[in-house]
Amino acid sequence: MIEFTNVVKTYDNGTTAVADLSFVAPTGKITVLVGPSGCGKTTTLRMVNRLIEQTSGSILLGGEDNAQTDTIQMRRKIGYVIQNAGLFPHQTVLDNVCAVPYLNKSDKQASRDRALELLELVGLDRGYASRYPWQLSGGQQQRVGVARALAADPPYMLMDEPFSAVDPIVRKQLQAEFLRIQADLAKTIVMVTHDIDEALKLGDQIVVLKEGGILAQIGSPAEILAAPADRFVADFLGESRGYHALNFASIAELELQPAPTVRLGESSAAGAGTWIVACDANDRPLGWVRADGSGEAVAAGRVTIAQNVSQSRGNHRELLDAALTSPNGLAIVVDEQGGFAGTLSPDVVIRDAAAIGRGARESGLPS
Ligand code: ADP
Ligand code: MG
Repeated sequence: MIEFTNVVKTYDNGTTAVADLSFVAPTGKITVLVGPSGCGKTTTLRMVNRLIEQTSGSILLGGEDNAQTDTIQMRRKIGYVIQNAGLFPHQTVLDNVCAVPYLNKSDKQASRDRALELLELVGLDRGYASRYPWQLSGGQQQRVGVARALAADPPYMLMDEPFSAVDPIVRKQLQAEFLRIQADLAKTIVMVTHDIDEALKLGDQIVVLKEGGILAQIGSPAEILAAPADRFVADFLGESRGYHALNFASIAELELQPAPTVRLGESSAAGAGTWIVACDANDRPLGWVRADGSGEAVAAGRVTIAQNVSQSRGNHRELLDAALTSPNGLAIVVDEQGGFAGTLSPDVVIRDAAAIGRGARESGLPS
């Protein structure tokens, strides 16, 4: 846990970058600091590892005041990832990842073995270990940056716009891999971004800052979407706030409706005009086919490919999207193994919208 209490940072030129900031970044969770450029995010992050000294207030790491602990010792507990990765240009990828373990005088061979494992964990095969940073794409460098921060197995991670410098497709991949890694490692993470979509996607908790380092709101993505604290937060969340909120509404409790199924290459007894879920040889749904009553085997060419939704992990947004791209307006829902579980009508999205949006209406914001 990282605990900020009444933290203030005023630079020598009189700029107050952070004003009286208090929040807790819980253990094993991702806390995202988000806000427009210049609102004090980087300053806040760099006060944690004392690259910047706060003017007043306290920052505790695991209950220890970081102003009272030895800076070197304290930094060993913190992995630090910055935009553009900040790799050492004249060192190989492997040596970059091993930088902190070498500083800590860890066993060389063990450090290297671990570094190779970490490279694999972040999606780079061993062939990259002997390359130099300039021989890698931006996304690959960013992966090395994450591996380097994890090398000393620190309990805390500070990440400053780690995915901002890469193109949108690579960014999406990096975000997904980052969530997968965090699901295993459960580090206590404070991440900075100016991108609200990234904050909503990655954060367990979001701290919204406004100019002058003033706390605008703190809460889970769903809480902030449902009830922005003020006009600044509502505007920062942008126009698609309602759609975003659908991401946080699970479909797991919804009652599924049955539908007839047929395997490709087999025939169905369903009456002409009936929509049937076409499945592969392993009974995994591929899409919809409309029975023609001929009793002929169903050919792949007749299937309208569907976007299936997972019953356990799916959300209202995926349900709506699946229904909107389905020829009969129904979403196909699959179980953990990818098998057919049932169908859902998107009507529930509108039915439950009232519950999801209630917080927003109760917050009394002008519409
Ligand atoms: P963010 O990361 O949210 O873009 P920063 O923390 O970098 O914001 O900066 C917050 C404010 O502090 C900005 O107004 C910035 O110009 C100012 N600032 C940052 N570093 C310094 C510095 N070393 N000296 C004076 N002002 C600074
Ligand atoms: Mg910054």
